[in-house]
Amino acid sequence: MENKRVVVVGGGVSGSLIAKSLQFRADVTLIDSKDYFDIPWASLRGMVEPSFAGRSVIHHRAYLTNGRVITSPAIDVTDTEVLTAEGRLIPYDYLVIATGHADHVPQTRLERLEQYRAENEKIKAANSILIIGGGPTGVELAGEIAFDYPGKDVTLVHNGFRLLQFIGQKASNKSLEWLKSKHVEVKLGQCVDLDSISEGVYVTSSGESIKADCHFLCTGRPLASEWLKETILKGSLDEFGRLEVDENLRVKGRKNIFAIGDITNIKEMKQGYSAQKHALVAAKNLSILLSGGKESKMAIYEPRSVKAYVSLGRREAVAQFPYTTVIGIAPGLIKSRDLFVGKTRKLLGLDPHLVDA
Ligand SMILES: Cc1cc2nc3c(=O)[nH]c(=O)nc-3n(C[C@H](O)[C@H](O)[C@H](O)COP(=O)(O)OP(=O)(O)OC[C@H]3O[C@@H](n4cnc5c(N)ncnc54)[C@H](O)[C@@H]3O)c2cc1C
Repeated sequence: MENKRVVVVGGGVSGSLIAKSLQFRADVTLIDSKDYFDIPWASLRGMVEPSFAGRSVIHHRAYLTNGRVITSPAIDVTDTEVLTAEGRLIPYDYLVIATGHADHVPQTRLERLEQYRAENEKIKAANSILIIGGGPTGVELAGEIAFDYPGKDVTLVHNGFRLLQFIGQKASNKSLEWLKSKHVEVKLGQCVDLDSISEGVYVTSSGESIKADCHFLCTGRPLASEWLKETILKGSLDEFGRLEVDENLRVKGRKNIFAIGDITNIKEMKQGYSAQKHALVAAKNLSILLSGGKESKMAIYEPRSVKAYVSLGRREAVAQFPYTTVIGIAPGLIKSRDLFVGKTRKLLGLDPHLVDA
């Protein structure tokens, strides 16, 4: 009997894992805007240590050895096919939407590695650096630079009144204190108008001037659901552009379309850890359907209050658990040294230590 066709759109945290998990049970096609999976929580280390990206930027082919990879954004979905920007129609029996967040990154792994090297040169050449955005990306980048390049003047400007608004106040306060202790100047409740830059001087919304040799924009990435707005799934998007899913992670009202990761409307903290769980539950459910099993046997995804770790340089981190928040070396031991890269690679069936060619 011919294998059923499973098409996965989005090769990030959840899409890569589900494609890898199903590749020997179905005819799997992964459609991604780029030809690699870039482990998001390791990306800031790549900017201060470009060789680190050799393990954390993974070519899709490395783990998807028995599937097809199409490098082109998906732009439309019908009941039977996905259309890519390069004009290919990819037929499916089962579809998984895992497009998470949109990012402006190069299309090939080699270009991405080159970009890390260029960003590192930019950091090395600068005496003063401005980071715009105080979410996890801005805070982790400030931590990486402050730790690896303690002689540089780092300023972080955030438009909110506390850092890391996706987690609790305690974690925000502790991170702020840590950054200050590393001489990072943090300005809250202000934005920077990038059109205002003149001879290395940036002006904030409060009229303050900041001198910096370069800047990094670390503001939030939008959800990558724009492309669904004129498709058969437009009625399944909620007011925030998230796909409504049922307890089995199928798009509501659809028998053969699943959605996983940050794009879903599941009420939980949007974390890669949860996205990986979604991938495993949806893979299990798809395996049941692919083998002609009963729908009633499908697994139910139950959101749990998860932990959140934000690394602060190479040794420390702030961690929020359901009942407590801790900062320092202990949570740092869990995340900050390897940034879960070995663990993530292992989950994809790859050698945790190998630097990809
Ligand atoms: C700096 C940082 C640190 C983080 N730290 C942690 C952490 O420590 N622990 C944790 O659990 N989570 C962490 N997260 C959150 C985590 O990365 C996200 O929750 C996770 O990436 C969501 O996975 P996803 O599969 O839904 O989407 P993503 O990983 O965002 O992947 C989406 C994929 O879809 C592709 N795509 C988008 N649109 C299209 C299209 N139209 N066609 C084809 N492909 C498309 C993109 O190219 C991308 O490959 C962190 C995030 C950041 C930014």
